[in-house]
Amino acid sequence: MTSAQARHWRSASDALALLRREPDVTRTRLGKHLGLASGPTSDLVKRLARARLVAQRRAPSGGPGRPTTTVRAHPAGPVALVVDLRHGDWRIGVCDLTGVVEVVAGGGHDGADPEALLTGLRARIADLAAPLGDRVVGIGVAVPGPVADDRLRMTALGRRDVPVDRIAPPGLPAVVGNDATAAAVAEARLHTPRPRTLLHVVVEVGIGGALLVDGVPAPSARGLHGEFGHLPFGDPDVECPCGARGCWSAGFEAGAVARRADRTVTGDPRAWLRDFHADRGSASRARADLAADLGRGIAGLVNALDPDLVTLGGLAASVRDASAESFERAVRAGLMAVHRESPPVVVAARSDEDAPLIGIGLSVFDRVLDADLLARWSTGVTDGA
Ligand SMILES: [Zn+2]
Repeated sequence: MTSAQARHWRSASDALALLRREPDVTRTRLGKHLGLASGPTSDLVKRLARARLVAQRRAPSGGPGRPTTTVRAHPAGPVALVVDLRHGDWRIGVCDLTGVVEVVAGGGHDGADPEALLTGLRARIADLAAPLGDRVVGIGVAVPGPVADDRLRMTALGRRDVPVDRIAPPGLPAVVGNDATAAAVAEARLHTPRPRTLLHVVVEVGIGGALLVDGVPAPSARGLHGEFGHLPFGDPDVECPCGARGCWSAGFEAGAVARRADRTVTGDPRAWLRDFHADRGSASRARADLAADLGRGIAGLVNALDPDLVTLGGLAASVRDASAESFERAVRAGLMAVHRESPPVVVAARSDEDAPLIGIGLSVFDRVLDADLLARWSTGVTDGA
């Protein structure tokens, strides 16, 4: 590769990285980010379009002046097949290199037979991948539990060690990630100005989340970061399914919430929790306690991690809003004085239930696109304009 080609390739790689971190990137924004004038930016976008990586779309600017040109994924460009495996159900989507996801399949499961579930999903993925041919660059799977070395490491699917990466067809790389971490990756794209450090805390069946730096999860040795729910902010006498005692998560599980509120869990625990937290008409004492427990933990995380912004995903905003006063009081009491002077903003997450699909799709492109781009699309990208 000549030095000019190497420069073209580096610009292309940087451009695609920006398209993963920001939605609706305009050509002007891209040029500014890369430090390129309008002519070279236009040439670069043309090369990326010729390589079937991006397409341009002219859109009204929404104000006075010329229409803007946004840079999008090419309709025949690379995609990741992405799976969101949840308690009780699963969904499969097709994710382009800018994080636009189309959900194409879904179904339920009872978690009793992970082998059968994975075998079934593997067949569905193979069927969905076949017509897409070599456009599929990888498989992303978001799972509801701790992930180490691309394996799900907890009891969420009835076993302690589930090789989820096996659902990828032969020859395609699989990226397995925790669902809350994946959701955080999608969430980080939705805030302006973009937070340098984002703490995303998700309450679902337990608590998870991630610390993101410049839009990507902070690195960790095996991928086990973000297991905030297993910090010992809970009752030290209670053993958590993870094997530790005193986990913060334990108090937010359906059974524990039901005991606090003097209720009984009926049906799917995730659906039951969703209904419980949406209804604010009763059990006000239990709701105030949960909001305070959430606030206390978030204060601890802020003390430890010092984020620019805190976002509440899943049911976390409902838990806070059920007793905002208890939440605020607990946050304030738990913050170090230095944080109390100017606490980080805590807001409800803006991403929706597609966030784990988007985030795991972007993680697939983070892992494979550069190498793939070089190997498969480099001719069009690195040729002269
Ligand atoms: Zn635990």
